[in-house]
Amino acid sequence: MQQPIDLPANDLVAVTRDSLLALRAALYRDMGPNAAALLQEAGYAGGGALFDAFTRWLSARGLSSPETLPAAEFASRATEFFRETGWGSIDLGALDTVATVDSTDWAESDPSHPLEFPGCYYTAGVLADFFGRLAAEPLAVMEVECRSMGSPRCRFLLGNGETMQRVYDAMADGVTYEDALAATR
Ligand SMILES: [Zn+2]
Repeated sequence: MQQPIDLPANDLVAVTRDSLLALRAALYRDMGPNAAALLQEAGYAGGGALFDAFTRWLSARGLSSPETLPAAEFASRATEFFRETGWGSIDLGALDTVATVDSTDWAESDPSHPLEFPGCYYTAGVLADFFGRLAAEPLAVMEVECRSMGSPRCRFLLGNGETMQRVYDAMADGVTYEDALAATR
């Protein structure tokens, strides 16, 4: 049997999901739209430690570093790691010029506290730093579907800043993200 992840050795603390969701709801309640940037900043700040924890977690299983793992192995190990650390399962994919991260059980999402917009901003920050390290270049992350707004999954798009800005602007004009991405081909 695999050892559970050693939280203190990885600079991690166990926070209950109830606390995370309460913090998020309180920020949205009191800060309005500004809550998004605050949550994203907090997530981004922790991406490095989480990436290091993933690197050690792989090493403890006799596997190579995240940068050198074959893509399929990386995808299955990353979902195992995020599930084991309580965040949920992830499914990695690609759509036109961006990468996608999908999850049907993501811990930051909260279908019982409905939002009119995707709400996993802490996660968007984490993923930007985590996958930016893997890609060795800055990545922008935007959530385009969210369980908090009634979707069956959360979907994050990962790409360069310019592409993501074009998708964001197109969506503001009522274009779907799929159509906006198709136009970036
Ligand atoms: Zn979400």
